[in-house]
Amino acid sequence: MTDQPDHLAAAWSDLVATARRTVADGLVVGTSGNVSCRLKDLVLVTPTGVPYDRLGPGDLTAVDLQGQQIIGTLRPTSELPMHLAVYRSTPAAAVVHTHAPYATAVSTLVPQLPPVHYMTAALGGPVRVAPYALYGSDELAAHMLDALRDRTGCLLQNHGTMTYGDSLAEALDRTAQLEWMCRVWLTAQSVPGHTPSLLSDGQLDEAAARLRGYGQRGRGTH
Ligand code: 13P
Ligand code: ZN
Repeated sequence: MTDQPDHLAAAWSDLVATARRTVADGLVVGTSGNVSCRLKDLVLVTPTGVPYDRLGPGDLTAVDLQGQQIIGTLRPTSELPMHLAVYRSTPAAAVVHTHAPYATAVSTLVPQLPPVHYMTAALGGPVRVAPYALYGSDELAAHMLDALRDRTGCLLQNHGTMTYGDSLAEALDRTAQLEWMCRVWLTAQSVPGHTPSLLSDGQLDEAAARLRGYGQRGRGTH
């Protein structure tokens, strides 16, 4: 064995910090939502129904890609089918599910978040709403996978958000951007007598190309 235990402990601490951020940032209330990250064939997940501020280093919970519990005694999140579906079908290293309020509101109104902002391109294009199914069900996981095609995030009708990324930080940031765009659209479309202008596919493609060079890429430490 190598330094795997340290590696796992660090990933767990990152996961718990991310789950706490979802509460602190108002993306969930109480024990709603769930977070996971993948380390090779192991998926670390938040346990079901446990307040994130009560989770310590001894609560590490991990399953394999079939959902078999490998580490821990706490029962894994009820949304294991959604998390595992993402890992089986995409290169995701982390998944964040929340009940972010503006996103959840939008999920009750439209089948797709209208592209009001260029950050739509950061999620792969206009964000779809997966049709409603019972939380924790395989049916919900199937609807979510359809909605995630060529996207790194989607809404879940009458439920919340699902995003993934190359890291917990990236998955959480995508949730925050998605929630922010839902807030912008709801605000704009609620002005009486006005309809928000939307971006064309061409404008989104152009933004996607520019976003590929966004930030401090190639500068090393950022
Ligand atoms: P868990 O506490 O089982 O993770 O469930 C919360 C949730 O958001 C279900 O959709
Ligand atoms: Zn949920």
